[in-house]
Amino acid sequence: MQHLERKDERVYRAVLGEESRQRNQLEMIASENFVSPAVREALGTVFTHKYAEGLPGRRYYGGCEFADQVEELARTRATELFGADHANVQPHSGAQANMAGYFAFLEPGDRILGMNLSHGGHLTHGSPVNFSGRFFDVAAYGVRESDGRIDYDAVRETALRTRPKMIVTGASAYPRTIDFEAFGAIAREVGAVHMCDLAHIAGLVAGGHHPSPVPHADVVTTTTHKTLRGPRGGLIMCREEHAKAIDRMVFPFIQGGPLVHVIASKAVALGEALLPGFGEYGRRVVENARVLADTIMERGVPLVSGGTDNHLILVDLRDRDLTGKDAEQALERAGITVNKNTVPGETRSPFVTSGLRIGTPAITTRGMAPPEIRTVGGWIADILERPRDEAAIRGIRRKVGEMCAAYPLYDELAPST
Ligand SMILES: *Cc1c(COP(=O)(O)O)cnc(C)c1O
Repeated sequence: MQHLERKDERVYRAVLGEESRQRNQLEMIASENFVSPAVREALGTVFTHKYAEGLPGRRYYGGCEFADQVEELARTRATELFGADHANVQPHSGAQANMAGYFAFLEPGDRILGMNLSHGGHLTHGSPVNFSGRFFDVAAYGVRESDGRIDYDAVRETALRTRPKMIVTGASAYPRTIDFEAFGAIAREVGAVHMCDLAHIAGLVAGGHHPSPVPHADVVTTTTHKTLRGPRGGLIMCREEHAKAIDRMVFPFIQGGPLVHVIASKAVALGEALLPGFGEYGRRVVENARVLADTIMERGVPLVSGGTDNHLILVDLRDRDLTGKDAEQALERAGITVNKNTVPGETRSPFVTSGLRIGTPAITTRGMAPPEIRTVGGWIADILERPRDEAAIRGIRRKVGEMCAAYPLYDELAPST
C-alpha cells in the first residue's frame, strides 16, 4: 500500500486499523469470511477502470475483449459449480440479485410468500422497510414454535390460502437444512415461481454439504461473499428459459455498468470453489458449527431448534436477563465478534433482540478446528453466564489474542511488530 500511505494518510490508517482488528479478533459473524490473496488481488486490478455494459460478446462499449474473458470465466464456473443452465455474475450485491429476480417474474403489487424476518428470513424477502415490502404484497411463513424448524405443512397451507405469485426460500438466520424439494413441490402446486436465495449457504451447497435448490427452483440468487468465500457481490442462476428475462433485469433495468474487477474476483473465487479442497472446507465449517453448538448447549445455553445442520447457531436469550445487544457487546470486549439477532417469537426490538447469531465460516478459513472451537465455545458460555464480569472478559480477551496469533490470518498480514 505504498501509494495509499503517501497519498492519503487517513484512509491508509483506517485500513491498517481494520487489518489489525481482523487479525486480532475471532470473526464469528455468520455472513462473513476471509477471501484468498488471489481473490483479493483481483479486486485491486485495472478492471475497475472499465465500462462493460451488456454481456460478453454483446457490449455497448469498445475495448471489452478482456472484460469478456473474465466474465465468461465467471459465468461458466458458476454454472459448472452449481449445475445450473445459466448464470448472471453482474449483480452488485445479494440485494440487487434479489431485486432482479423479483422483477424478472413479477409486477408491482403481486404477492410474494417469504420467510418471516424474525424467524430467520432476510430484509429483501418482504420486510416493510425494504423495497420488497413496498413493491409487493407480502405473505410470510415461519418456523414452528415448538422446535424452531420450518413447518412445511403450514407453508403449504399458507401458500394455498394466499396464492402467491412467487415463493422465496432461503434465510439469513436459520440453522437447519432447508427442504428445497418440498418448497418446489408447493410452488408447483400453487402455480408460483420458486426463487431460492442461497446467500448464506451457497458455499455449503457448492461443497456438497447442503442439498442443492437448483433442480427445484426457477431461479437461484446468492451472494458471493459468505460461505462461498468470494468478493462482496451477487450472482443469479436460472433455467435457460428464464435467462433473457434475468439478464435484462440486471441490466438495464436495475443496474448500470458491471463491476468488472469484482467479476474478475468472482471468477477466481468460483475457480477455487471448484477445487476438491473446497468440499473439505465446507465439511469443516459444518463440523465446527456442530461442535460449537454442543459446547454451548452443554453449558445450559439454549439454541433455537436445539442445534445446527449448517454453519451457524442461534443462541436463544429469551429466558435470560441479557439482551442480544448486551451479549454482543460483552463478546466484542472479549475479542469475539458476533451479531445480535431476532429469534422466533421475538419480543424485543430489532436493535436490542433476544438472540445471538454465531457462525464458523471465517474462523474455519483461519484454520481453527474442533479443539479450538470447544475452547471458544467455553469462552462464549462464560461470558453469557457473567456478561458484566469485566475482569473475566479481560482475561478471555488475552487468550483470544493468543489464539489469533497461533492462527495468523494471512502471511502477508502477519503482525509486523
Ligand atoms: C446477506 C443476504 C442477502 C443480501 O446480501 P447483500 O450483499 O448484503 O445485499 C440477501 N439474502 C440473504 C438470505 C442474505 O443472507
